[in-house]
Amino acid sequence: MPPEVASPTQPPQDRRQRTPVASEVDQDKRSTFACCALFIYRFRLEDIVSTRYHSDDFIETRAGYIAVRLRYMAMFYAAAVPLWIPVDYLLLSREHFIAMILPKLFLTASLIPLGMLTLRKHTSHQIHVIFALVFIVAGMFYFASMLILGQGGAEPMLAGYSLMPFMLIAMLGVFPLTLVWGVAMSALIMLFYLALEIALGRLLTIDTANMVWVLFILAGVSLWVQSSQLLMLLKLYRESTRDPLTGMINRRVLMRRLTTEIAHRKADGSSFCILMFDLDRFKRVNDNYGHLIGDKVLKTTADILQQGLREHDIVARFGGEEFVAVLPGFGSDAAMVVAERIRANCHDTYVTAPNGDRIQLSTSVGVTEYEAGEAIEATLNRADESLYKAKELGRNRVVHSQSEGFVSQGS
Ligand code: GH3
Ligand code: MG
Ligand code: MG
Repeated sequence: MPPEVASPTQPPQDRRQRTPVASEVDQDKRSTFACCALFIYRFRLEDIVSTRYHSDDFIETRAGYIAVRLRYMAMFYAAAVPLWIPVDYLLLSREHFIAMILPKLFLTASLIPLGMLTLRKHTSHQIHVIFALVFIVAGMFYFASMLILGQGGAEPMLAGYSLMPFMLIAMLGVFPLTLVWGVAMSALIMLFYLALEIALGRLLTIDTANMVWVLFILAGVSLWVQSSQLLMLLKLYRESTRDPLTGMINRRVLMRRLTTEIAHRKADGSSFCILMFDLDRFKRVNDNYGHLIGDKVLKTTADILQQGLREHDIVARFGGEEFVAVLPGFGSDAAMVVAERIRANCHDTYVTAPNGDRIQLSTSVGVTEYEAGEAIEATLNRADESLYKAKELGRNRVVHSQSEGFVSQGS
């Protein structure tokens, strides 16, 4: 079935820019609290609450960081178990020492495979499932071990076991977690603590209330550390992957996204098209009006491109005055319609220079469809050749790689 294409004269229905960066988040939708956060702490609350405003690429990058740290954490606990044995041997009664063997075996036998699982490439969702499982296993170990040691109240509470909820909550600070996930995991750890207190019949005691209070404070500090890590990661990520002038992803991220796109296409058998844009006679704009006006022309063109694409299309600044758009699920005919619409929109747009001159935007476009099995460089080369052809034919036109000399509109 051919993909649905918006009419060339009408903008596509969904004009929300894909993967908006913080500066692109709609001001009006911010709560008063979010505005205070921005004003006082100079960060945007929506960046740390959830992954809603994170790009797919950042979600994957963050999942990679979480996976590595999770692996170390799982291995740390798995390795700590044998080290625990001599300590337990010295400090525990023989009966308790033997009873503790099973929970320890359970912890090691669960954490090693979970840690190993993070070695494989996973989606962010899968990494979060492994993450939750690691903490659930650790929580179950805490519950079982404290139940064994707490029975009869004869055994002194060993710090290694009794402080485990505190250690787990502190360890959450190692990860760049969103607030939603950080709160959920802190609540999970507290649930294990409260379940144990219920099982030991100590829930309504001052000691338990005191410990819950300390856990709350520690969870607050840990959430602060997690959010700071997330913000720092986000800032570094944005600086290294976004073009500061247009806010678009750069060529490096585009190539990564294209690799993912090819994998998706292999899985579902569909194709995608590439549109390569190059501004016409742009050097003249710089020469005649200066680089600042040149930048304004670039930014205006970038905005037209972004508005002319769907939310899940990909668009990147490929080079100086070159842009590349990727249209997943689109065949050549539909892609030509989109390219032609954007070209025409550019041609209908003017940027006013300080001296009052109206500079008309103009772009040439090369279009091609990805052919199954080929290297992405071959696809990009084809798009580049079509673009070159469009320039040769006089600029301000769209040329497809397969329809030799096809011209949608002359200048
Ligand atoms: P053609 O129609 O053949 O593409 O001609 P052109 O003048 O657009 O192409 P050319 O490659 O000769 O010039 C591209 C210009 O783009 C040269 C460079 O100074 C300018 N440029 C590249 N990046 C930027 C930028 O970030 N800001 C500004 N203002 N100019 C840029
Ligand atoms: Mg160029
Ligand atoms: Mg050019």
